[in-house]
Order: sequence, then C-alpha cells, then structure tokens
Amino acid sequence: MTQLKDGFGRRFSYLRLSVTDVCNFRCEYCLPNGYQGKPTGFLDHDEIRRLVTAFAELGTWKIRLTGGEPTVRKDFLDIVRTVRAAPGVQRIAMTTNAFRLAQDAAKLKDAGMDAVNISLDGLDAEHFKRITGDKRFDKVMAGIDAALAHGFDAVKINTVLLKGLNDEQLPAFFEFVRKRPVSVRFIELMRTGDNGEYFEKRHVGGQLVRDQLDAAGWTPMERGEADGPAIEYRHPEHAGRIGIIAPYAPGFCDTCNRLRVTARGGLRLCLFGNGTGNLRPLLQSDEQKEELKATVLTALFGKRVSHFLHDGDYGDTPHLAMTGG
Ligand code: SAM
Ligand code: SF4
Repeated sequence: MTQLKDGFGRRFSYLRLSVTDVCNFRCEYCLPNGYQGKPTGFLDHDEIRRLVTAFAELGTWKIRLTGGEPTVRKDFLDIVRTVRAAPGVQRIAMTTNAFRLAQDAAKLKDAGMDAVNISLDGLDAEHFKRITGDKRFDKVMAGIDAALAHGFDAVKINTVLLKGLNDEQLPAFFEFVRKRPVSVRFIELMRTGDNGEYFEKRHVGGQLVRDQLDAAGWTPMERGEADGPAIEYRHPEHAGRIGIIAPYAPGFCDTCNRLRVTARGGLRLCLFGNGTGNLRPLLQSDEQKEELKATVLTALFGKRVSHFLHDGDYGDTPHLAMTGG
C-alpha cells in the first residue's frame, strides 16, 4: 500500500478533520469576539466519506473530528457513523468544549467514538467564564463525568496554560486527577494571526509545569512510538496523569504524524502552515479517489521540516477554530 510520507521520512497515520469552524464559546485566545464567519458550506457526508476512505487507503488509521466546536453540527452523530464505516479507520477521537457531552456521551459511544479530548481551562466557574466567555462550567464538568462513565478508551483534558489566569491553579489541576483517570495536558499558548497581543501577555512556557511536577513527586513516563506530542507524568497516588504539550520546544516537529483538513476541504500540512490546496473539487464523486490520493501524496512533499514559530512565522491561521486545533 502506498503510504503517506514526507521528504523527511515522517509517516502520516493520523488525520484531524474539522467538520465546522463555528463555535459557541469565546475563548479569549481563540475567538474572543465569538464566531464571526459565515456558517455554511461545510463538507457533507459524501464528501467526508470519500475523504476519509482515500486517506485510510493511504495508511491513515486514526481520525480526530474537531472544529470550531464539532458538536454544534446537528448531524455530528451521523458524521461519526460515516467515518466509523470507512474501511481501514481503526480509531476515532474528537476534541470538544463539552457543552453537550453530558447529554451525548452514550450516543457518541454507540456511534463508534473511541476517545474524547475535552477543553477545560479553569477549574471553577469564575475562571472558566473568564477564559471561555461561557457560563456552562457545571455542564462541562458533567460532560467529563459522563465521558468517564461511558467507557471511552481515553478521556483527555486540554488546558491552555495562561499566565495570570490558570497558571496559579496547577496544584488544583494535579488534585483534579487524584481520583479521576484522565490525562490533563497543559498546552503552551500558541501564537496565531489574531492573538499577538494576547500571546505577549499570557504565554508562559511549560517549564513552569515541569518544575511544579518535579517538586510534587511526579515522574515522566517513557514515550512510546505511537505517542502524541504530550510528555506525560505520573504519580503513585494519582489515578490520572499530567502532560505537557510544548510546541516551542526543540524537536517538537520531529515526530509529527498528522495532517489536517479544514471544514471546507482545505488540506493543511501543518497547524501553522499556509494553506496547501483545496481537496473539495476531488471529493465530488467516488471515481475521483485515485486522483485525490495522488494529489495528497504529491502535496506532502511540500511539508516543511518544522513550523517556523520561532521566526515569527505562524502561517495564515488567524485562530485555531479556523483550521481545527
Ligand atoms: N472547540 C473544540 C475545543 O475547544 O476543544 C475544538 C477546537 S479547539 C480549536 C481545539 C483545541 O485547541 C482546544 O483544546 C483549544 O484549547 C486549543 N487551542 C485553541 N487556540 C489555541 C492557541 N492559540 N494555543 C493553544 N491551544 C489552542
Ligand atoms: Fe471554540 Fe474551541 Fe476556540 Fe474555545 S478553543 S473558542 S471552544 S473553537
């Protein structure tokens, strides 16, 4: 089977597919003024089926559905079923703000969802509202409990590390995983086109978390080949884990194994890369599959060795709701 590979020998077995760029939250670092776009024209079921089938034939076995907020799509469960039915797809995950996870967890599991990443930037209603602009802290917490109760293979929490907002809550986050078997991963705030000033004010490096983990007796875990970008820590008295995702750390891109497709069919070779073409014209009939595969294979040779965030090059991404974080 022809495999997706780039010019640096990296293999791509993982696709992050955005199903909408609409979001109902206003996270300060992402959509501080709420969604401002035109909420139409997202890939439909047939287009998603053709896309996922072609990627699976090129060795993609894991698909993450993301957005925007993927669950604002009324047909989201059908999308999950469509992706699940594609031959070769072995694992489906999603990233969500969890506003409706408490009510949907069972249905998502039945539809074939394997794993859930939930964004949670504050551990009380006040911090949560301050950062996300949303009042539904209790609902999100209920969503986390529901995800744990319904037996997903993995429940992970994404927390964007924010100076002066949640970096003082680290001990509370460590406590949060004492009884809960979840992995809380602190993500360093990333610079995007829209958040320059915010980034200057709120970015703090992952070393802060590392130092506090060391001091509290947490130990780093061995990394497996299939592991994602998080470096995870464990502690004998805690059921859950703490992870750090530090995109500014040296070597972060060496193990990149993922590609992205935007909600309207744009291929993105990197979260921060500039757009590299529109796959949508090749998603219009089943007969186009070989052409679609050839196009993706060729595009991959344009993938750069690394993001160039250190050089101030954050691509043409205004915010991550646009490309699917
Ligand atoms: N709406 C869903 C959610 O929030 O989980 C999915 C899309 S969101 C863009 C995906 C992830 O990207 C979230 O965990 C969010 O916190 C993270 N994110 C968004 N903007 C970011 C930034 N500038 N730096 C770091 N992480 C960011
Ligand atoms: Fe919405 Fe997710 Fe962006 Fe927050 S991070 S505004 S929940 S897309």
